[in-house]
Amino acid sequence: MSAQSLDSAAHPLVIIGSGFASFCLAAHLLETHALKPTDITIIGPPPFGYGAAYSCTHGDYRLNVRAQIMRIFADQPDDFLSWAATEIEDSEAHNPQGAFYRRSDFARYLSHLSKRIKGFDKLNFINSHVASLGRQEKGWQLNLASGDSLIAHQLVLATGNPVPRWPCDIPAGLSAEKVVEIPWSGKWLECVDIRDKVVFVGGGLTAMDGIYSLAKKGHMGRIEIVMPFPVLPPKQTDWKIETPVRWPDDISSASQFLKFFSNTLGSRNWTDPAWQSRFEALRIDLNSAWQGLDDTAKKQLLRHMGHWWQLARFRSAPQNFDAAQAMINKGQLHLIKGRVSGLKEQGSKLIVRLQDGGELAADKVVNCTGPAGCPLIANLLEAEIIAPDISQRGARIAPDYKVLDSLKKPYDNLHALGAMTANSLGDVIGAGTIAKQAEKLAAILAPLFR
Ligand SMILES: Cc1cc2nc3c(=O)[nH]c(=O)nc-3n(C[C@H](O)[C@H](O)[C@H](O)COP(=O)(O)OP(=O)(O)OC[C@H]3O[C@@H](n4cnc5c(N)ncnc54)[C@H](O)[C@@H]3O)c2cc1C
Repeated sequence: MSAQSLDSAAHPLVIIGSGFASFCLAAHLLETHALKPTDITIIGPPPFGYGAAYSCTHGDYRLNVRAQIMRIFADQPDDFLSWAATEIEDSEAHNPQGAFYRRSDFARYLSHLSKRIKGFDKLNFINSHVASLGRQEKGWQLNLASGDSLIAHQLVLATGNPVPRWPCDIPAGLSAEKVVEIPWSGKWLECVDIRDKVVFVGGGLTAMDGIYSLAKKGHMGRIEIVMPFPVLPPKQTDWKIETPVRWPDDISSASQFLKFFSNTLGSRNWTDPAWQSRFEALRIDLNSAWQGLDDTAKKQLLRHMGHWWQLARFRSAPQNFDAAQAMINKGQLHLIKGRVSGLKEQGSKLIVRLQDGGELAADKVVNCTGPAGCPLIANLLEAEIIAPDISQRGARIAPDYKVLDSLKKPYDNLHALGAMTANSLGDVIGAGTIAKQAEKLAAILAPLFR
């Protein structure tokens, strides 16, 4: 990709963010709609497509779904799998549940696609960060961290998963090797002694990545996970892709949503392949049912089943789950019910304070609380350029991906895509759902450039 010198002419289409969502949108615009690559500008850190999920280089960090689910083009469901057959050597990837490859290998596949898709090398790529943006007569003015600015006619926000932040105040001066705020790259594992006592704050898939990697290193120290509900994500099974469940059109309350969901799901055993197949079939068209709910109903559902949903939906790669279970069985891994309220250093140890007054001593504390807030979106909300979603931290987005202004009127030249749309549009977080969303947004945008 050529570096873009910032000229005064407006850029026809700019995508802010260079993660997986942005990559999928560019792929669909080029491959399916044959857009002129020089009309598309991407702003964000390289390598293009890697983002929060696939830029980790740690060899033990794996995809949390089997290879067939990681598809970018709906009509090429086995493309990653076929590529992997000749390009990945990883005997540990294979389980009865399918192949769960390393995330760094999926990143290599994205690089391979970027060479295969015609026009990728001619996209304008700006390795920078958009610090702020404002409306302009011709479109949007983007102010970059580098001090440059540019104008975009059409703008897409694909800022994804903002890096995690501590859920409590942390005393200044603590070594970043002891208190790990952003664990996604896996680099922190290089500084763990085999006998260290490790406390994870939060028990989702990031903690599971850490536990699997520690197990692979032969870790001997005690491990504790502090979590509000002491349950680990279930293990992926070899669930089957079933016909999507059709949600009724007239669901308008949280109770109707829940009733339909539980009745259709039937069993409560989330370790059963049949349960996981049904759950996934329910998820396919869930977003339209979610979008038919008002804010009150959405908030009720998030309160009632948000935590459970995160676990049911973000199931663990079998390798990770088995490693955690083995550690629990031998008394090395402990799930602690609670929330962390503070952290301090005491001699050579760290002391983790819990909201109920309890304390845990540790050598390393790893923050696995998930994505925090996006500074750019926060600026736009504060400047009342966009309307907030139900979390009050994200952008409110219409079903056709248009971002809403502070009066909840859609902008014609501002769209959003990817993980950042989940609160407004439903369960848009995994690679497969994001790729489908990118396909739809590409079909909306492409006619504007003909
Ligand atoms: C650690 C982790 C592991 C995951 N593993 C899987 C998995 O195995 N399988 C799966 O299906 N899903 C996985 N996911 C889910 C993941 O959300 C999606 O698969 C997908 O990667 C999200 O893509 P995105 O582009 O929306 O967000 P991101 O990948 O977060 O990309 C957003 C990009 O925007 C950039 N950006 C943000 N703000 C600005 C700005 N102001 N200016 C310029 N650039 C900006 C960021 O630097 C980043 O590069 C994982 C998520 C995480 C966080």
